[in-house]
Amino acid sequence: MPGLAERLADLAGGAMLDNAEVTGLSRLSSEFVRMELTADAFRKAAWTPGAKLQFRPRRGTMGLRTYTPVSWDNARGVTELIAYTHGDGPAAQWFAQAAVGRPCEVFGPRRSIDLRVPAGPVVFVGDETSVALACALRTVTGDVSHVFEARDPAGLTGVLAELGIIERAAVVAKTPDRVELLRAARDAAVPAACALVVTGDAATVHAVRRDSRGWPRTPVQVTGKAYWAEGRTGLD
Ligand SMILES: Cc1cc2nc3c(=O)[nH]c(=O)nc-3n(C[C@H](O)[C@H](O)[C@H](O)COP(=O)(O)OP(=O)(O)OC[C@H]3O[C@@H](n4cnc5c(N)ncnc54)[C@H](O)[C@@H]3O)c2cc1C
Repeated sequence: MPGLAERLADLAGGAMLDNAEVTGLSRLSSEFVRMELTADAFRKAAWTPGAKLQFRPRRGTMGLRTYTPVSWDNARGVTELIAYTHGDGPAAQWFAQAAVGRPCEVFGPRRSIDLRVPAGPVVFVGDETSVALACALRTVTGDVSHVFEARDPAGLTGVLAELGIIERAAVVAKTPDRVELLRAARDAAVPAACALVVTGDAATVHAVRRDSRGWPRTPVQVTGKAYWAEGRTGLD
């Protein structure tokens, strides 16, 4: 039987969270899950590309995990997520075990990155957790050069191909010095004045932002957000 703390968390969750249901699920690879969620609350929600949606992977706690809707259909009350299920954190476990028909408690969408007004061409730098944001950006502009760092570059390249992100997409191996990533991002920014969008590992976001100040063409706009950080859980 749940203890007092768990029951209080469930009471608070019931007041704060909306009920959704998994209505579509496909595995893009052993580590990537594409999921459709449906909820009555989604019909009247205001979504902007780049916004975040949080969900509670474990009842009896108030620990939320944050994901990026790829698209939003108000008429049907449907959104879509793409999750990278690394490790064995609560969200990774939840996505790995998810199935159509499973209920889910959500909070949002809420403001995070606002992709609506990119200032010209975009250089998009990210990692496995940024794939959904890259898809959301596609709803706004096609003028994007992508640079991804990945633990498994071949695996991520396959996932991106399945999602149609093939042209102007470089995938480099994640390394501690990030030399290859920074070079690829700098090269992508050379042809024209661009906006920079960078998400993923907090340390990478920091390194790319700092490096971009020395690019031959300094970005006209920089949008950066840490999606995860070594040793920390549940960033939002
Ligand atoms: C605004 C925002 C939007 C996001 N959108 C997406 C999205 O669309 N798709 C997506 O897959 N993720 C997204 N993320 C990242 C996701 O929320 C985190 O990866 C989250 O920590 C996963 O929760 P968890 O319960 O699996 O692991 P946690 O319990 O949070 O973490 C467990 C351990 O894993 C480590 N860790 C967390 N993420 C990673 C990683 N990617 N690689 C290696 N180690 C990691 C942590 O440092 C910790 O040590 C987003 C994050 C934010 C802030």
